[in-house]
Amino acid sequence: MRSVLNRYTFPAIFQSRTCHFKSSPHFSIQPNPNSYHPNTPSCENPCFPSFLHLLKIYKTPSQTKQIHAQTITHGISPNSLIVSRILQSSDLNNSLLIFNQIENPLPFHYNSIIQAYSKSDTPELAIYFYLRMLGDGRKPNNFTFPSLIGVCAHLFAVSEGTQLHSYILKTGFDSDQFLRSSLIHMYSSFGDMDCAQKLFDEASARENVVVWTALVNGYSKLGDLEMARKIFDEMPERDVVAWSAMVSGYVQNGRFKEGFSVFNVMQGEGVKANESVLVSILSACAHLGALDLGRWAHLYVERRFGAELRVNLGTALVDMYAKCGDLCASIAVFEGLNCKNVLSWNAMMGGFALYGYGRGALGLFSKMLRVGLRPDGVTFLGLLGAFSHGGMVNEGRIFFEAMTDVFTINPMLEHYGCMVDMLSRAGLLEDATELIENMPLEPDASVWGALLGGCRVHGNIVLGTPIGEKVIDFEPDHAGRYVLLSNIYALAKRWDDAKHVRRLMKERGVQMRPGCSSIEVDGSVHEFVVGDRQHPQAREIYNKVEEMDMRLRMAGHFVDTRNVLYDLDEEDKELQLSYHSERLAIAFGLIFADVGMPIRIVKNLRVCGDCHSATKMLSKIYERDIVVRDSKRFHHFKGGSCSCMDYW
Ligand code: ZN
Ligand code: ZN
Repeated sequence: MRSVLNRYTFPAIFQSRTCHFKSSPHFSIQPNPNSYHPNTPSCENPCFPSFLHLLKIYKTPSQTKQIHAQTITHGISPNSLIVSRILQSSDLNNSLLIFNQIENPLPFHYNSIIQAYSKSDTPELAIYFYLRMLGDGRKPNNFTFPSLIGVCAHLFAVSEGTQLHSYILKTGFDSDQFLRSSLIHMYSSFGDMDCAQKLFDEASARENVVVWTALVNGYSKLGDLEMARKIFDEMPERDVVAWSAMVSGYVQNGRFKEGFSVFNVMQGEGVKANESVLVSILSACAHLGALDLGRWAHLYVERRFGAELRVNLGTALVDMYAKCGDLCASIAVFEGLNCKNVLSWNAMMGGFALYGYGRGALGLFSKMLRVGLRPDGVTFLGLLGAFSHGGMVNEGRIFFEAMTDVFTINPMLEHYGCMVDMLSRAGLLEDATELIENMPLEPDASVWGALLGGCRVHGNIVLGTPIGEKVIDFEPDHAGRYVLLSNIYALAKRWDDAKHVRRLMKERGVQMRPGCSSIEVDGSVHEFVVGDRQHPQAREIYNKVEEMDMRLRMAGHFVDTRNVLYDLDEEDKELQLSYHSERLAIAFGLIFADVGMPIRIVKNLRVCGDCHSATKMLSKIYERDIVVRDSKRFHHFKGGSCSCMDYW
């Protein structure tokens, strides 16, 4: 079980009970002066009701501070109920000072400070105050638990959460319906659906939409979307939060089309979308590369919330435009955002990485520092990715070192993978090997895989073969690793070894992830796998592919058959390449996409060398821009060349 508390959690300051609070001489908020009686005992002080009234009207931390100062001058005891109200509405530092001033805090004081911390950036301190409450011999009540349960759910504090639950059972508070809802929510966040479902089945009042939604969320998190959908369909009523849970459940599990379809039903029922459902929809558009749908969602966002974008939606739009191949729109949204957080900057940085705009990423990085934001690990992943795809190896090395030395961020496996990829593709295979040998973390298959990829590109069979064998042992279920090794053997024309690897793969039952390309035309997304003949317009598409092949040959395209693995006749190899999924998608785009508009394709794997050179030529032959997002980056083919400058 995971616990969130350790000996570093509670700094010494929290043990201090000295109050350094000094009342400010400039008060603008005053209780009714007619009721001022300094010698009246606090609980009978006639100022008391008027302070409560003031607290209802003036809610900002500085106003609350002034009201507190007034309670001191009016002789109100720090132990009174009014002080506990101030604890709840004051800013956290002030709350802590006030709390430490109270001689013997009562349960309602503890409840207030626990509640204040539960909503703060350091929610684990709410648990600390709960423990202090028990240590002081104060009995928690049903107002103590909901915020604590929320904290455990938020922090994934399984051990503390389970202990709280058993305490609630022992003290008989479990009959409280509100607490039960909170517990169902907590267990759902832990992914413990057995406990969540048991509590739900025992609950007498199930009309609470929050409880149902918690279950939908819990099952979605576990990837059990059938169960999540069953609960969702059985819900007696659904609010926008419930709809949002179902949409994001589908989207987070990669079932984008079902996410869209639930969203459409939601709209049909007249439910107005909230921020979170729109963020999910934008993320689905980004994954699918569905630019038209994304643009529609942008208009919807503006109609619903106004042109001034909130930070979460703005960030989702920056990400969507970048991943759908419209970097200009992405930059425009980013520049127009009034409020940006690290996530927004990271989304923009990720965009530059996809396009290999190393210089742009560098500019963005310095701008980020100038506005006083601290980059995190994800920022560096974007920055290094941009250098890698832009072929800026020196900059990559410098910033990789600066990451630890200047920004004190420890590189994770992903950062090493990125560096190894950058060095290997630049042909610096020895440097890449050295980096792997000296890294403080245990290199995983993806780090070795990056080096193996470099060995293939640069035809280094001597280094590649043992690594390929090692990587297969690391990840015996990953089809791509077998393919890479058999590819390396094929390069060396060691057909028997290549065949052996393929046979091994078959014997172990490893399934190939088929190449799949999608293209959006008129708002609907069409998917193609290699050699696909399922599409209703298959005949037209294949005729177009033949025409494309003929025109490519006439233009002098040399077919690079090194990208086909099998020991086939050269002619068969050529045929196989023609039916790679992106060729089918390009053919479909040439037939059905609006004339003059770029053809935008998303591919799940890296584009192969032959398709890359063929697509360059096709962009010239048909005078069409073709934008392909493969698993690593964007390729913008225009007039016979590609934005990646053949470096990918
Ligand atoms: Zn291909
Ligand atoms: Zn390219």
